[in-house]
Amino acid sequence: MSVSKLAQFGIKHVAKGIGRLSTEVLESGKGSYVTTVEGRKMLDFTSGIGVTNLGHCHPAVTKAAQEQVGKLVHGQVNIAFQKPYLELIEFLVPLMPHKSLDTFFFWNSGSEAVEAAVKLARHATKKQNIIVMQGSYHGRTFGTMAMTKSKTVYGENYAPLMPGRETAPSDTAAIVIEPVLGEGGYVPPPAGYLAKVREICDKNNILLIADEVQCGFGRTGKMFAIEHWGVRPDILVMAKGIANGFPLSGIVSRKELMDLQKPGSMGGTYAGNAVSCAAGVAVAKAFQDEKILENVNERGAELLGMLETAWKDSKTGHMIFDVRGLGLMLALECQPGKGYASKIQAKCMEKDMLILTTSIYDTLRFIPPLNITKEDMAEGCRIIREAIDEVAA
Ligand code: PMP
Repeated sequence: MSVSKLAQFGIKHVAKGIGRLSTEVLESGKGSYVTTVEGRKMLDFTSGIGVTNLGHCHPAVTKAAQEQVGKLVHGQVNIAFQKPYLELIEFLVPLMPHKSLDTFFFWNSGSEAVEAAVKLARHATKKQNIIVMQGSYHGRTFGTMAMTKSKTVYGENYAPLMPGRETAPSDTAAIVIEPVLGEGGYVPPPAGYLAKVREICDKNNILLIADEVQCGFGRTGKMFAIEHWGVRPDILVMAKGIANGFPLSGIVSRKELMDLQKPGSMGGTYAGNAVSCAAGVAVAKAFQDEKILENVNERGAELLGMLETAWKDSKTGHMIFDVRGLGLMLALECQPGKGYASKIQAKCMEKDMLILTTSIYDTLRFIPPLNITKEDMAEGCRIIREAIDEVAA
């Protein structure tokens, strides 16, 4: 595949440490498709890593952001309230997985929000340590690097991180868990697992923090993944899909917990930006108006059906180790050691389709827009199946 002049410029001037699936230069996006500067149209089953959940440039989100740009871009949360910030909370409160979750703090990125949750847990419990799961991904900032257990590249070469050690319940402030493990392989928990974690937290004055940065906002077919198991988190972390691409993240907790923190100890220059919040309001309205969750479950069943058929098929079954997931957060794990997932990913790329692997295991993950049309899903399934067949041949 040829590398455009603009991409060559990027290779020269953009930090190599970022790492990148392709050297394409994206110029525009509409619905489930992105288009490069050279006019190559690609079916996007990555949604910018689970962010553009309503497709690229969703008209209502674009309109809300454009209108807000003309009214107020930046108010700054430590100076005054901002109207779209408050409107967003009004829309989010009824969507929360438990009615106790009614007090919010918005940030920019998922990592920052995870750190905000850790700060709150330390303050509330007066304890220090945090338990995270094997295979977890919580971010690349200094705090969250130490909490990320999916791939060594995220943390190696930056030591010392926050120290890792065994921790007794009496020293443990919080257990942080992705209700569906994301970067670590798209693994839903076994039945009863989260309820047991809740029980351990309750017994030991430990807070349960649900990191729904990747699995939240409809991705698994419910508004928040933890709803599948009816478990109440003390703090819920959200980001990615919340504003369909505008930088926005947040935590929500019950008021008496959140309000322990002293005024001025929370905040940030761009935290809860007004344009991002206006986009977030449009996203929340779309969930009300556009039957998004129904579509997730219908399109998810189609994609899952195709993956399961590929698994059962004798021509391709030898290559596939597992098919799993919920809603439109689906994964296909390959037999280890042969690099199959990357080969299938490369074949999809040749066929003008973007898909991702996960950080560990030889696993492909599929996260198309939640409002993907039946036709686009059929086209995606066709390409993926073809790529699987070609790699298996
Ligand atoms: N938590 C989870 C579960 C994530 O998937 C991610 C991002 N992949 C993060 C936190 C970090 O979010 P961000 O990249 O916005 O900092």
